[in-house]
Amino acid sequence: MILVVGGAGYIGSHLVKDLVEKEEVVVLDNLTTGHREAVDSRAIFVKGDLGNEEDLQMIFRSYPIKAVMHFAANSLVGESVVDPLKYYQNNVASTLTLLKVMMKFQVKNFIFSSTAATYGIPNVEIIDESTMTAPINPYGHSKLMVEQVLADFSKSYGLNYVVLRYFNAAGAHDSAVIGESHDPETHLIPIVLQQLLGSREKVSVFGDDYDTPDGTCIRDYIHVTDLAAAHILALEALLSGKKSAEVYNLGNGLGYSVKEVIETCEKVTGVKANVEMADRRAGDPARLVASSAKILNELGWKAQRNLEQIIGDAWRWHKEQKY
Ligand code: UDP
Repeated sequence: MILVVGGAGYIGSHLVKDLVEKEEVVVLDNLTTGHREAVDSRAIFVKGDLGNEEDLQMIFRSYPIKAVMHFAANSLVGESVVDPLKYYQNNVASTLTLLKVMMKFQVKNFIFSSTAATYGIPNVEIIDESTMTAPINPYGHSKLMVEQVLADFSKSYGLNYVVLRYFNAAGAHDSAVIGESHDPETHLIPIVLQQLLGSREKVSVFGDDYDTPDGTCIRDYIHVTDLAAAHILALEALLSGKKSAEVYNLGNGLGYSVKEVIETCEKVTGVKANVEMADRRAGDPARLVASSAKILNELGWKAQRNLEQIIGDAWRWHKEQKY
């Protein structure tokens, strides 16, 4: 049985929907940002907090957990600057509690959701796993701290783990039954699609004076279903003893500017966006594009879905958003 912590959240719920086809799954989520409706009915759902030892012990006592996949975190850069305590508490301290209880119950397989924010402002065009990590905000620091904890636990306690550093997750399940739903929404693609559907007056482009071809920031957008597939491969590699103490980037390897994303949304939907130029948003690097060659070479994973498919699936979800 696999414990998915944060399995009611955006990425976690997509992983669960695909993982239940292969494994028995228990989801732990406190539902502060997750959605109960997003959890596939084939998974066992426990409402509780990963920072609460009793909730965790109850799960490890009740179910034969062989691995933990940990998606539960706060993940907004701006909020982390305003309220770092929340980020170190939820992302670092609560993860330590989870790891402590795992060690107590001798559960030694762990998959951790990390982020491109660990790289800060990289001085390379394409980021690979050897690019220096230098976070520029508490969110990135909180994730990198846990990566360090995992490396130490691996050496001292025999923890097996894989860290997955996501670039820009987007899109929705192809069933359109689950998708992205944040409140407040801060991510580019859902914001553009909400504007196209009329629930927002305009889309603000945060800065058009960056050192990029069209002046807007470039990101590497990766379909949430491709992310889920990478997790399942990583889990198989971990459980078969093939891989441990590994870090992998997960991206498409292609960069799209904010303007290109908006244009692609217009093309896919056939609706014109109402766009305004706005000031830069604090903490945004000009360009974040991944090399995912390492996970391709080692686990055979490659993103299968391009930006048009990402936006097409997100559009079908947003048109009849269920939660
Ligand atoms: N962005 C924007 N307007 C918005 C939301 C985002 O111009 O309303 C830009 C943002 O500044 C960044 C890119 O879109 O350059 C992707 O931002 P998002 O919040 O989706 O992801 P992030 O890269 O911050 O994880």
